[in-house]
Amino acid sequence: MLKHLVAPLALVLSLGACATDSQTALRPAAAPSETTRYERGIVSAADPRAAEAGAAMLRKGGSATDAAIAVMLALTVVEPQSSGLGGGGFYLHTTPDGRIDTIDGRETAPAAATPGRFLTPDGKPMEFRSAVETGLSIGVPGSLRLAELAMKRDGKLPWAEVFQPAIRLARDGFAITPRLHDALGYAKSTAGRTPEGLALFYGPDGNPLPVGTVVRNPALADTLQQMADKGPDWLYSGQNAAELAAKVAADTPSDGKMTAADIAGYQAKDRAPVCGTYRAYRVCGMGPPSSGATTVLAILGELEPFDLSRLGPQSPTFWHLFAEAQRLAYADRERFLADPDFVSVPVDKLVDHAYLLRRGALIDPGKTMAHAMPGLPLPPPDGAEPDEHGTSHFVTVDRWGNAVSYTSTIESSFGSGNMFRGFYLNNELTDFSFVPQEDCSARVGGGTDARMGDIAEGKLEMAVGSDCRPVANRVQGGKRPRSSMSPTLVFAPDGKLLMVVGAAGGATIPVQTTRAIIGVVDFHLPVDQALALPMLFSPGDTIAIEPGTSLVAMIPALKQLGHSDIVVRALPLKTNAALLTSDGWSGAGDPRSEGVAITE
Ligand code: GLU
Repeated sequence: MLKHLVAPLALVLSLGACATDSQTALRPAAAPSETTRYERGIVSAADPRAAEAGAAMLRKGGSATDAAIAVMLALTVVEPQSSGLGGGGFYLHTTPDGRIDTIDGRETAPAAATPGRFLTPDGKPMEFRSAVETGLSIGVPGSLRLAELAMKRDGKLPWAEVFQPAIRLARDGFAITPRLHDALGYAKSTAGRTPEGLALFYGPDGNPLPVGTVVRNPALADTLQQMADKGPDWLYSGQNAAELAAKVAADTPSDGKMTAADIAGYQAKDRAPVCGTYRAYRVCGMGPPSSGATTVLAILGELEPFDLSRLGPQSPTFWHLFAEAQRLAYADRERFLADPDFVSVPVDKLVDHAYLLRRGALIDPGKTMAHAMPGLPLPPPDGAEPDEHGTSHFVTVDRWGNAVSYTSTIESSFGSGNMFRGFYLNNELTDFSFVPQEDCSARVGGGTDARMGDIAEGKLEMAVGSDCRPVANRVQGGKRPRSSMSPTLVFAPDGKLLMVVGAAGGATIPVQTTRAIIGVVDFHLPVDQALALPMLFSPGDTIAIEPGTSLVAMIPALKQLGHSDIVVRALPLKTNAALLTSDGWSGAGDPRSEGVAITE
């Protein structure tokens, strides 16, 4: 899991990567002085070239938003396995006075999609991989409409300017990193599914191009240039929308096919931020269709009665409490979270402080609970109300104190594998439940039997009780699949922005994000050390522990606390964050990734 950058990227790192080394990291300051607060901006991203693209915008006098959109575009080029123009994302923005707006750029299902989209003719859930590598999985991409709305609201630089770093990277070339190389190896059936993908990333022998090979993507350079010159309508209307729809439709063997009207009708949406308190801190995140904020706030709220600071990260009891809170939070997530335009999600009730304290009272520090069930006395939303390893998180803060927390995704590594004009198209629709109806004799959740327990892919399943109702997150035409993405802002007790954080890694995302917040707030760690904390993921009755960490030695203690089902397995972990310290902004990329932070 631990992969670090090699020589070709050292140049960018030397431009000012900061705070991935604990010696340079700084402790959080609850009440930093105004003079240090805004004098320097910061960018933290999963790839140094993308971080540099954002930093270049800050240098030109751009805002946090200009920087964030430049990062998203550059990631399309240099981290093609994870995110970009072919997918969607969630953007959380705050001004220095704490006003927050969010943009939902999640992909949508074609209008003609039906709840049985991912069922075989005999009514069984499809095998996950076979669903991914078809047009069935491809939602209408949202990233460019998100960029448009964000730039209109919060951008300072011209639209075309933020495209320049990405155009240069695609045109002049970028070196293949170890992480991209690995992904090209294990996901060849996806990345190399089209002649375009094969030609870009594989040699004549069919093997992934070696680490350090400079890849040029002229098709994508041209696409980016056209988007820069002509604006988002270049993709969402006319000939390109028609061609994109035709390409996806030709790749879709059954169920509703994407049309040009689906693409033309796509809208990035304003959503209300979802906020709560954790101790004296205000924590805000992305509401439905993301389960991010409700899950982060649930875990934190359920843990609030416990003195985590006293326990510390070396204590098995802390990890036991963390596991129990996850089980409760994910039970509610499975039951209630889906696209709020299709089902009524009881967000206020789910993050209500008193409710979470009651949920937290179910946690016994001395032993595990038998079953973690959803807590609200409500049926799962049935949609009768209002018509119902691929991801990257990045963080930007500008010199004025505006900040963006943005998670961008194409879902799995290389998305669906289908490509359009140089970029990969997402497989986001496999984030819908494959099973449209709760099966009271079995278990339902994020996918098929093949995905049962496939925690590393983040496709979890869990018991949901004895109701046999429509699943809230079932496929419906025009709907957005539920997400785990958790772009988050944490405000200090004085009301000022303290931390900007989020992660990639499927269903582990809210837990990675929460772990980083606890690392800072409770354990008083510098940001790099908070991101380096080991990972324990327990969305159901199984606990997954990150190999090679101090948690492995705690397994006997966790078993004594009643956790019988513990597996040690690689988890998809990639958090990025920035933290305000007494010396200004300090940032970090996950030590398990190639991520960096650059201060400006
Ligand atoms: N598509 C996933 C989501 O929106 C994220 C995938 C990943 O991080 O691997 O929740």
